[in-house]
Amino acid sequence: MRSSLIRFQKALRNQGLSGAVVAAPEALSSTNLRYLSGFTGSSGYLVVSPEKAWILTDFRYTEQAKAECSDFEVVIGKSVVETIALICREQRIDVLGWEADKVPYETWQEWNDTIPVVWRPLNRLIETLRMVKSDNEINKIREAARIAGESLMEVLPSLIGRREVDVALDLEIAMRRRGAESLGFPTIVGAGERGALPHAHPTERVIGPGELVTIDFGAQVDGYKSDETITIATGAIPARLREIWDIVAEAQQRGIGAIKPGVSTRDVDSAAREFIAGRGYGEYFGHGTGHGVGLDIHESPFASQDSGQQRTLEVGMTITVEPGIYIPGLGGVRLEDTLVVTEDGSERLTIVPKYFQNIGVVHWSQKSE
Ligand code: ZN
Ligand code: ZN
Repeated sequence: MRSSLIRFQKALRNQGLSGAVVAAPEALSSTNLRYLSGFTGSSGYLVVSPEKAWILTDFRYTEQAKAECSDFEVVIGKSVVETIALICREQRIDVLGWEADKVPYETWQEWNDTIPVVWRPLNRLIETLRMVKSDNEINKIREAARIAGESLMEVLPSLIGRREVDVALDLEIAMRRRGAESLGFPTIVGAGERGALPHAHPTERVIGPGELVTIDFGAQVDGYKSDETITIATGAIPARLREIWDIVAEAQQRGIGAIKPGVSTRDVDSAAREFIAGRGYGEYFGHGTGHGVGLDIHESPFASQDSGQQRTLEVGMTITVEPGIYIPGLGGVRLEDTLVVTEDGSERLTIVPKYFQNIGVVHWSQKSE
């Protein structure tokens, strides 16, 4: 039986819920549904009681749902609301959990009118369970990170003279060839002054010699994503950019060094942020230091100063550490690794080294030979 389902059923029991419904209608595909059931179709609903579980989907997925969701009773082509009501009646489910942050208001109104239960918001219960990964999940993220990192090293030598969009495409092809089922997220490539945009969509700008290039990239393996960022030089760069690079690298090391079980995610953020602020660049680091990675590219826990997002790290959680400094008109630096929390600290899942790399030197000396 899926360990995610076992954990969820145990949590339902602990919270006094006699059932829960997880909705992923066509327009709102849900990683929570996939996490609990293994279902990869585009539309489906789960009903889970502490003892049993059902998946409701349509004719397109009859065989797929049976193959992917062996722990679930598969219900095909029936009215969703009537089926949920029927299951609740037969199983004597009277307190039903639901994802108040995800179900559209119209759907909720229909459920509330038709299904005679006490409705209780799940309050991100599934997201909370998802924070701590199984070895199986971590291995998928590790494999995605390996594919992404090896692909990056393949495309790096040919950066100069190419457009940002070409680099993104090369990277995608390299990842797919190595077995990625898709990109983990749209690749970010920002060269020169465009490095000051934390989420620079690749453009037709040509990457020249003597600038910094930031590439934020990841692969996806069996639903699980990796997340990594490098910033490399294509030749001699202005002294201020080199200074920034070294500050970000040290901040990243401090953030990574803060990770261990029992530590607050806010302290991980502080470790990186205080170093950058101490060097005078605090105002140029405007985003959180990190986030969890799994079926979603950005998931709990989040490392920032936001007290509402604060979590205590546990063994098996994944978290990125990705401080950056962005100076409009000049450029920017971000360095990012994905890590998993271990008993005595953390293990890096991403594989590209984060020392200062100047591919311009290699490139031009090879050219002149
Ligand atoms: Zn990233
Ligand atoms: Zn990230």
